[in-house]
Amino acid sequence: MIRTVIRTVFLDRDGTLNAEVGFVRSPDQLRVLPGALQALRRLCAAGRRVVVVTNQSGIARGLYSEADLARVHGRLHAELGGLVAAFLHCPHHPDGGFGYGGACDCRKPGAGLLHQARELLGVDFAGAALVGDSARDLLMAQGLPIATVYVHSGKPPPQELETLAAAGFTPDHEAADLGAAVDWLLARP
Ligand SMILES: [Mg+2]
Ligand SMILES: [Zn+2]
Repeated sequence: MIRTVIRTVFLDRDGTLNAEVGFVRSPDQLRVLPGALQALRRLCAAGRRVVVVTNQSGIARGLYSEADLARVHGRLHAELGGLVAAFLHCPHHPDGGFGYGGACDCRKPGAGLLHQARELLGVDFAGAALVGDSARDLLMAQGLPIATVYVHSGKPPPQELETLAAAGFTPDHEAADLGAAVDWLLARP
């Protein structure tokens, strides 16, 4: 039996696809990074499926609502040419409220959003990859057979790389931005 496995690339949102500007409360605050759309086009043309996984504790902090986030993701989806298969988010924060406080398993570096993707979309972790600009983005893949790429397009890299090193985690690759990450991903067998 021939089984076709769609290879999935998990992408962080802020600092990876769009500029890291702190909490994004409305679509007007979105700035898609240069080259991000082109990078997504190349991934999709190569048969990869793109899934965004993002911490959105602003909901638990009462800074914006699920409906506000839906508007932000609606705009981002359009600006990214409709190429993102799914936007998965964690609305929680341990110290938050508004119905979203307390511990959860989907806040990165927890792996809950990856498991959600597996259940919703049938993602096969073997052969999947993950790109992010913060330590906790990459740490969510710890112990899973997912290739990790750290990009320098968001949070200050020295601090994030130090956190990764302290956790004993070495990214499979480092790249300047998503475009360079895709160069590496598509060159892999
Ligand atoms: Mg980020
Ligand atoms: Zn959560």
